[in-house]
Amino acid sequence: MPDDPDLAAPDTTAALGFSSRAIHAGQEPDPSTGAVVPPIYQVSTYKQDGIGGLRRGYEYSRSANPTRTALEECIAALEGGERGFAFASGLAAQDTLLRALLRPGDHVVVPSDAYGGTYRLFNQVLVPWGVEHDIAAIADVESVRAAIRPETKVVWVETPTNPLLGIADISALAEVAHEAGALLVVDNTFASPYLQQPLALGADIVTHSATKYAGGHSDVVGGLIVTKAGLRTARDEDVTERVGFHQNAMGAVAGPFDAWLVLRGLKTLAVRMERHCDNAEAIVEFLQRHPGVTAVHYPGLPSHPNHDVAARQMARFGGMISFQVKGGEDVATKVCAETELWTLGESLGGVEALIEHPGRMTHASVAGTALEVPSDLIRLSVGIEDVDDLIADLRQALDRLT
Ligand SMILES: *Cc1c(COP(=O)(O)O)cnc(C)c1O
Repeated sequence: MPDDPDLAAPDTTAALGFSSRAIHAGQEPDPSTGAVVPPIYQVSTYKQDGIGGLRRGYEYSRSANPTRTALEECIAALEGGERGFAFASGLAAQDTLLRALLRPGDHVVVPSDAYGGTYRLFNQVLVPWGVEHDIAAIADVESVRAAIRPETKVVWVETPTNPLLGIADISALAEVAHEAGALLVVDNTFASPYLQQPLALGADIVTHSATKYAGGHSDVVGGLIVTKAGLRTARDEDVTERVGFHQNAMGAVAGPFDAWLVLRGLKTLAVRMERHCDNAEAIVEFLQRHPGVTAVHYPGLPSHPNHDVAARQMARFGGMISFQVKGGEDVATKVCAETELWTLGESLGGVEALIEHPGRMTHASVAGTALEVPSDLIRLSVGIEDVDDLIADLRQALDRLT
């Protein structure tokens, strides 16, 4: 509970570097046994020492659970925010956040290549609730400014975007949102806090699908929110308090084992991201030289339209690449099906390399909308395998099929 001092222990790791925080923030040795890893507190309720006499603030695990608290403190420390919140999935986190921030009659600006599930949430869940949105090309600050209305309460940003790896200028968009009295929310899933810390760039709230780089091993579905200290809504409500209230009131929380898996993933985030980036850079170079490839989308390329912005706000350029092939949808889907080391699958951010066809898979739900993606597009989630093996497998498929 936010008002319980024991649950909001002071962060003694604030001055440490990223990996030290990832390994230690929220993860003091267990007070009862000294276990160096926070135990999986697989429990629903807690003994009270007399009515209301809660031990360290724990009462019922929807409201708070020690394993989840450890993860929430860790992600808050990594994003440099006031408080972290952990959920059953990325979309559960986003739904909770949006219902905490918005009311029927409000308006949101949504990016033109948002994650398909996020767009579906806006379009098919929030619209019937009475929250409207306009779609803007998020890489273009003026297009976002033009989409803002008097009722706009939230500007939603993903950067890099999925699947076209567009880059939004977080600082510039924070200014545009704030001038309009709106909050800037950044979905930081693709970059991870290791490569990009939106709150330091002026954003108000960060969300993650912890299913991706935070968890990092394709073995858990989870979501995270981090709020900035002292943040208030346009209605002058305390955002951290409201998100905490909605987390408990809506109940889409991360279970203890899922929280533990994400926490374990975060410990190695820095080393994994360095390797994801190393491998991605080599693969981009290979793809650019392949005659069957017509376009490569990667923010690290100097030819990327917002490369300068990416270089300013990201430590490196990440492990996601998309590219287009000669021969259209037919060839693109065949390439996806005929790699061996690259597994055909949705999702991203795990240690294993994944390949997919956004038009028919992750982004099938936005076909026929403004968010439709090119049919000859292939998306790669570059794994941390040996890069020569990853390139050889792509080469055999592209050589044969393009
Ligand atoms: C996967 C993803 C989500 C949704 O998260 P889930 O954990 O699948 O609910 C949201 N945003 C982005 C950018 C994603 O990649």
